[in-house]
Amino acid sequence: MSSATPAGLPVTRYDHDRAALGRLLGDEPDYRIDQLWQGLYEDLAGPAEITTLPAVLRDRLVGELPAGLTEETRSTGDDGETVKWLWRLTDGALVETVLMHYAERSTVCVSSQSGCAMGCGFCATGQMGFDRHLTTGEIVEQVVRAQREAGERRVSNVVFMGMGEPLANYERTWGAVERIHGALGLSARHLTISTVGLVPGIRRLAEEQLPVNLAVSLHAADDDLRDELVPVNRRWPLAELADACRHHIRSTGRRLSFEWALIHDTNDRPEDARRFAAYARPLGAHINLIPLNPTPGWPTRGSSPRRVADFADELRAHGANVTVRHTRGTEIDAACGQLRADRMDVPVEAPVRRQAAAALPD
Ligand code: SAH
Ligand code: SF4
Repeated sequence: MSSATPAGLPVTRYDHDRAALGRLLGDEPDYRIDQLWQGLYEDLAGPAEITTLPAVLRDRLVGELPAGLTEETRSTGDDGETVKWLWRLTDGALVETVLMHYAERSTVCVSSQSGCAMGCGFCATGQMGFDRHLTTGEIVEQVVRAQREAGERRVSNVVFMGMGEPLANYERTWGAVERIHGALGLSARHLTISTVGLVPGIRRLAEEQLPVNLAVSLHAADDDLRDELVPVNRRWPLAELADACRHHIRSTGRRLSFEWALIHDTNDRPEDARRFAAYARPLGAHINLIPLNPTPGWPTRGSSPRRVADFADELRAHGANVTVRHTRGTEIDAACGQLRADRMDVPVEAPVRRQAAAALPD
């Protein structure tokens, strides 16, 4: 296995690599591994549905390869073009996945942790605290389930922008990247890891063989404001973050993007745009602006459309490359920063406010 399953959790069907599945098959003929692998990763089937396998073996595998995700709820928005799932994991932890169809592609936004320990106050996931890391299999299965749903409109892009901080769960996230690339066949160019700015993780990513895209959630380009909005900035301030980003760009040749949630009168003033442009330009970074989506625990509203447009203009006037991200899924709370396992009628067996130590980078 490329990474360990946290203690006490069952190993689920997408946690096994090929060698581990081979061991599970024991004395079965060698071609069974190909049939099982094709069933799981090409046909996106559960063991019971892999009819190339004999019935007795299927029955055994149903018990030995349990699903990692059970659908708790499924909501659709944007006229069916956005689908959000709330999944219950094997220990009762809850996570969300969002599938977004566009004319030319379908993107799935996956979670890497249940909750998040990074404490960004404007983010619904941050507001719920940290529950636990997801396993490699639990991350991969989100893509598989979304691809089953997408059918002919195949999933072409995966973004690690759901619940959690992927670089705080490095090994398992990277295991998932490799599996999504190698077994599900998505190109590394179409995989994006979004981070709040964990410098050691960015440096480690730069050394990997597969060059994935890096998105950094910046939100402020001066340390005082960023310390407030994004607490990890106190540990890895902006200058160190820029160095790590530069290293990543040089090593991988991939484009960097910065995410910036626009918060009314907080980080949407002309001087914020000028500072941001000065920070992004030397790195050649692309800028994605996201008007702040409302969350229960943050009082300040998002910037008005007028302020968003002015901010984008100011950035462009200073030479930056900018996109304003169309907000998807707001009516089903599936938009950026709104993911939160908060169904009050669903008992949460795992404590949702276990504290941060367990969530810091491996
Ligand atoms: N932890 C990682 C990835 C998940 S968050 C990270 O922070 O990058 C995905 C994106 O949603 C991040 O860019 C995050 O800053 C943004 N976000 C969080 N809360 C938001 C909100 N209320 N409105 C808009 N974007 C938000
Ligand atoms: Fe965690 Fe990202 Fe939300 Fe910050 S924005 S609390 S890092 S999920």
